[in-house]
Amino acid sequence: MTPPRILVVDDDVAMRQMLELLLKEQGYDVASVGDGAALLAALEGGCPDLVLLDVMMPQLDGFETLERMKADDRWAEVPVLMVSSLPAEDATVRTLGLGAADYIRKPFRVRELLARVQAQLRARAELGRAREALARRELELLRAQEDADSRRALVDILHEVTGGLSSEEIYHILARRVARALNTSHCSVVLARPGAQFGTVATAYEHPSVVNHRIVLAKYPEIRRALATAKPVLVEDVMTDPLYAEERTRWAHEGLDVRIRSVIALPFSIDEARAGVFFLRRTREEPSLNRADVEFADTVIKAAVSAIQRALVIEHTKADNARLEELARTDPLTGLVNRRVLVERLQTEVERARRYEGSVTVLMIDLDHFKRVNDQHGHLVGDEVLKQVGDLLVSAVRSVDLVSRYGGEEFVILLPETPSMGAATFAERIREKLEQFPFINAAGDRLSITASVGLAAFPGPRIETVEDLLARADEALYRAKADGRNRVRT
Ligand code: GH3
Ligand code: MG
Ligand code: MG
Repeated sequence: MTPPRILVVDDDVAMRQMLELLLKEQGYDVASVGDGAALLAALEGGCPDLVLLDVMMPQLDGFETLERMKADDRWAEVPVLMVSSLPAEDATVRTLGLGAADYIRKPFRVRELLARVQAQLRARAELGRAREALARRELELLRAQEDADSRRALVDILHEVTGGLSSEEIYHILARRVARALNTSHCSVVLARPGAQFGTVATAYEHPSVVNHRIVLAKYPEIRRALATAKPVLVEDVMTDPLYAEERTRWAHEGLDVRIRSVIALPFSIDEARAGVFFLRRTREEPSLNRADVEFADTVIKAAVSAIQRALVIEHTKADNARLEELARTDPLTGLVNRRVLVERLQTEVERARRYEGSVTVLMIDLDHFKRVNDQHGHLVGDEVLKQVGDLLVSAVRSVDLVSRYGGEEFVILLPETPSMGAATFAERIREKLEQFPFINAAGDRLSITASVGLAAFPGPRIETVEDLLARADEALYRAKADGRNRVRT
């Protein structure tokens, strides 16, 4: 620990030397000067921990010196112990009023002087420690507040971001929240690839209506650099930063009054299509952006990017699932539901009919001699016919009915709540429609297409399950074929 520094001021050389010796013996670092002017000069060279100041001195006396010392913020706090032969009342009242820490009368007893010196130094050290602690505490408090603020802002942003939103919506929210958290008037998301000539403004906080606006990157050196280096770029002042040298020339040339002062360009990359920079700017009326702002924005944006990536994975997975689900349910040629869906629906309908004493009818429709169509006109025409048959069946049924492709050239129509009689009439109408429909081949020749239809209904004899129902319909279809085709059988 460095010893406390004491400065002795006295015009009496003997007194000065005596005090110096005495205090040095106690281990203090002591220096002395002969008058007030010399003290003020010595203070410029560094602050002592205590000044022993004689009152009666030629030219600048102790009162005046004390007054000047206390008037200067740099040493107003240094404790001053006045030493004088003046009567106590006069001197103490005046010097203490001027800010002296204590007063000691000449001639003094050595032990008293040392005790007072010690007391002053202790008080000063304590004050120093208290001040430091206070400053530390204040700093801690400030940091804690800042941390809390930025954490809260971060949490807010992420809360908004992690919903099931599209990436466009996420850009928008992110720009708005980052702008608010950092108090920047300008915050946008610019999509661009490294080395690209153009960028797309996906969203701009300052212009909410701007969407997918194209910008020429030649005018944005910070965006180009952020993209090229994949690192955040901070420009505290566009008027002095070398990055803007060329731009400044252009502004001057075009007589542009540039209002922007500070810029941050933060590169981000979500996937191939979604990469670019977050672009934060402050105007000359606002304080410049700094390193801490870059750090904060970077943290938020990194978190947001991973949130967006998660959202996209979920989006893709959902879309894939929906596609697979669709594929698993439909027949790609006709777009009709497949046998699996038909069976599921039949199970529900049979169960319902059983419980509420309702009915379910199925029509099993098989195109007659369809092999010949393929043989005579080719498979493509066969496919086309199957599609048209599908469309025709769909257009013929009610919305509660279900048309399915049961197999190659076989279709099954499920008719809930339709009594057999009504179903037979409906089946006959379908048969007629098929017979009359003008199917044509590529050459424009008319194709004659007919179908045989087997009908079965639940409840019915020997029908307990869906399998029974389909088997009876198949048997009826077989009878229709056997009886000469192009007819309906029950
Ligand atoms: P039947 O009157 O006895 O039903 O005679 P059919 O020729 O229709 O009967 P079969 O079951 O022997 O033949 C069905 C034919 O349907 C065989 C196959 O070439 C054709 N077919 C099945 N699925 C498709 C398809 O997706 N596209 C095309 N073009 N033809 C198909
Ligand atoms: Mg057939
Ligand atoms: Mg068949």
